[in-house]
Amino acid sequence: MIPADTELAACDFLKPKEVLALSSAGINTAGELLDWLPKRYEDRRRFDAFPAAPGGPAICIRGLVVDTRNRFGGRVRFYEAIVSDASGEPALGPATITCRWFNMPFLSKVLAAGQEVILHGKPKDFQGRIVIDHPEFEVIKDDSGPSIHLERIVPVYRNISGIPQRRLRELQYFLLEEIDPASLTLPFDVDPTYPRHEAFREVHFPDSIEQTEAARRRFALEEFFTLQLNVVWRRARILQSNGRVLGKKTTLLKAFYENLPFDLTGAQKRSIKEVLADLREPRPMNRLLQGDVGSGKTFVAMASMLLAVDSGAQAALMAPTQILAEQHYLTFRQWLEPLGVRVALRTANRQENSHIELDGEPQVIIGTHALLYDSVAFEDLGLIVIDEQHKFGVIQRGRLIDQGTRPDVLVMTATPIPRTLTMTIYGDLDVSILDERPAGRGKMVTGLRVKPKQTDLTKFVKSQLDEGRQAYLVYPLVEESDKLKAESATAAYEKWLKRLSKYEVGLIHGKIDPEEKESIMQRFRDGEIDVLVATTVIEVGVDVPNANLMIIHNSERFGLAQLHQLRGRIGRGEHKSYCILLTDGKSTDAMEKLAVMEKTSDGFLIAEEDLRLRGPGDVLGTMQSGLGDLRFPDFLADTALLREARTLADEIIAADPDLSGPHKTLFPLIHEPPADPIASA
Ligand code: ADP
Ligand code: MG
Repeated sequence: MIPADTELAACDFLKPKEVLALSSAGINTAGELLDWLPKRYEDRRRFDAFPAAPGGPAICIRGLVVDTRNRFGGRVRFYEAIVSDASGEPALGPATITCRWFNMPFLSKVLAAGQEVILHGKPKDFQGRIVIDHPEFEVIKDDSGPSIHLERIVPVYRNISGIPQRRLRELQYFLLEEIDPASLTLPFDVDPTYPRHEAFREVHFPDSIEQTEAARRRFALEEFFTLQLNVVWRRARILQSNGRVLGKKTTLLKAFYENLPFDLTGAQKRSIKEVLADLREPRPMNRLLQGDVGSGKTFVAMASMLLAVDSGAQAALMAPTQILAEQHYLTFRQWLEPLGVRVALRTANRQENSHIELDGEPQVIIGTHALLYDSVAFEDLGLIVIDEQHKFGVIQRGRLIDQGTRPDVLVMTATPIPRTLTMTIYGDLDVSILDERPAGRGKMVTGLRVKPKQTDLTKFVKSQLDEGRQAYLVYPLVEESDKLKAESATAAYEKWLKRLSKYEVGLIHGKIDPEEKESIMQRFRDGEIDVLVATTVIEVGVDVPNANLMIIHNSERFGLAQLHQLRGRIGRGEHKSYCILLTDGKSTDAMEKLAVMEKTSDGFLIAEEDLRLRGPGDVLGTMQSGLGDLRFPDFLADTALLREARTLADEIIAADPDLSGPHKTLFPLIHEPPADPIASA
């Protein structure tokens, strides 16, 4: 029997060339090879009929190659194979299909007339013929005896260069027979009733598709368990470590409340109370403030920071961008200076103290992420607020909060994410939710428009400007691009200058230098600029309540979360707001996506739709979550499975908080976050 940790190089059933090929794919042991799970299955007990028409999903057909040749079309070279129906099923349409592979002339050595093949791909139309471009294919060999390649549900693996599908399948089959089942067990078994060896057999060579799902759930649960074990362990460490007691004095907070011209929302008050309770505990706070754009997170941050300052500590706020840091700095000065609080700005481009006339170290420090890494020595940091807005991954956050003497940490995130993802990405944090919009906000309407007349759009923009409002005109690109057929902000700016000659039009995008960007934003804030032609640089956090109109061009190019963020820039004032989504209407997927924006402005609903439409892999990807290497991201949509993993992890950490006792074997599953730069600062 072969133990799972056997080096493949020591396996005589592999050729040296194969060992090398597998190694290039990161597979070095027998166990790792078995862990190379099928990406899909083909039910080769029954093939699809040859298609009568192009279109539709991918099909799996069996046929006979009747002709092949290398061809040229325009400037491209391709290998073409004409395949005729060999299924024995009555033909639905023309009984041949054309397969094409571009720039792969060597296929002539692999695929020739007279061979029987299995093809998998999407039939489409090419000049009246039904073609499949780049189908996956497998040549049927004349096996004697029962085959693992035919008459069954057959695994199809992600390609490993140098190992054909058939060979890979044979290797897996062989390994399943030969591997020592005992060597496949893990330090912790998430499901002792379902042996891993059995799960491997069922995932590679299932008798039914249901079996593969059961097996995948098991492996997903293993993966989730590791994730949750890390999260729960980190949380336990934070709870054990020393923090300081803040928030006993509330003089500044009271003065702050008295100066506010409005009442805080119930949700804001509740969140501040939750923060206050955390600050008063001797253990460090580790809290997530989740609230839709415009829900008033800044005031919760300000109140929290005042509580720290009142106890004699410094409080820092880190913003994801320069623009936001500058904006927070202004807001904080506006509200905190009257209370005699010393506010400072620390960014790569600008360092400023508001308190030239007030002596002493800054009490509140606003900065960009550079604050984390630069030599800003905090005298006495008690609280860090991270305005995360999804620009900040778990890794950095891990660094920040994982240090010897910890400041309290409040992480703010503007894009609501589905609960499943919260549990995964922010599972080590306590959560406060701002689910109430501040009073006195105007209505917001969102309209999806397919290629409307430019004159109508211009007229509408003018009508709003004449009411004294301001507008954002958003474009996906900074400059024209040959590759992408979308409008650019730079080109559109010239056009809008002409269309709106009576008004002040500004241009802002990521390639403008930070100082100028800030001055443009300032002029927009002050109402000197009426219309801002922009890219997504305005996406995060920008707050101009008088701006009530946003037109998003090529809106199909933006993701739902991003559109939601963008739209959050308007609807902040008392006036009715309009978000107009322009699109070419060409893609039904895009129309479905955009319709979600029309239907709801609830960030949680939008996040769930986003997850449904794009799948968690992509959603996680754009959040730079550091979870990119999950093998089973689809299961993130499965709350029950995640809860199960959480419960298992909770039980283990409760019994053995630092994994030094009976669960010592689990410690290798813990990923220590990278060293923390602040600790040494
Ligand atoms: P977020 O950071 O959650 O997007 P902000 O804190 O920037 O939201 O607040 C958005 C706008 O709402 C700001 O103009 C702010 O002054 C205002 N605001 C915040 N809280 C309230 C409230 N309780 N009542 C009225 N206006 C509020
Ligand atoms: Mg904000």
